[in-house]
Amino acid sequence: MALTIQSLVKSYPTRNGDLSILRGIDLTLQAGESLAIMGPSGSGKSTLLHILGTLDRPTSGTVDLDGVQPFTLNDNDLATFRNHQVGFVFQDHHLLPQCTVLENVLIPTLVQPEAERAKAEPWARELLDRVGLANRLEHLPAELSGGERQRVAVARSLVMRPKLLLADEPTGNLDRKTSQQVGKLLLELHAAEQTILIVVTHSAELASIFPQTRHMEDGQLVVNPN
Ligand code: ADP
Ligand code: MG
Repeated sequence: MALTIQSLVKSYPTRNGDLSILRGIDLTLQAGESLAIMGPSGSGKSTLLHILGTLDRPTSGTVDLDGVQPFTLNDNDLATFRNHQVGFVFQDHHLLPQCTVLENVLIPTLVQPEAERAKAEPWARELLDRVGLANRLEHLPAELSGGERQRVAVARSLVMRPKLLLADEPTGNLDRKTSQQVGKLLLELHAAEQTILIVVTHSAELASIFPQTRHMEDGQLVVNPN
């Protein structure tokens, strides 16, 4: 199982010609591998994650996850791909305020048939146990700290057992110590589940716990930035 990105380009048409954001991204990650991406604001990090998460489409180039090229799928199959194969953690937790912790983790499963959903609940409980929130299942998001809310978001990102886990500034709203805890959790869980993990972060300290780091520079992923 691997993620292969080839010659990925994203540009936006503007009145003054095309604004090119991604200028040929090539990357391969195997199951169980992780990568931190750093780079200045506006350099295209979120654009790349959105494309990998199929929330946006590339201008050209290919993405292949375990033999499936999502941008060749019809809209229905693409939505299924996104729901099943991609887990997302954003800077903001995006939890529903009126739903409990357990209900929030189960949200991605709501599109599934009843029998599948029933099977997901013990898994959701186990994930919440692994992120240290087994005793908070019935709490509402407002009753949790920022770090705890982000741990719920991490549990939710894995509930569908995705092959690809994407985190865009997942610790951007957290203090240093909590950031490191959430980063370690992402690493632990992705290794246990053998997903591919890509984390975008401004924090060199957070990036330092990842085995590989790349920098977004001039629309490309480079090892050593200028
Ligand atoms: P980062 O996450 O690295 O801060 P982004 O991927 O959010 O950067 O944005 C990269 C660039 O793409 C920015 O300059 C932004 O203004 C531009 N951009 C994003 N969406 C659009 C759009 N729909 N039309 C034109 N430009 C866009
Ligand atoms: Mg961004």
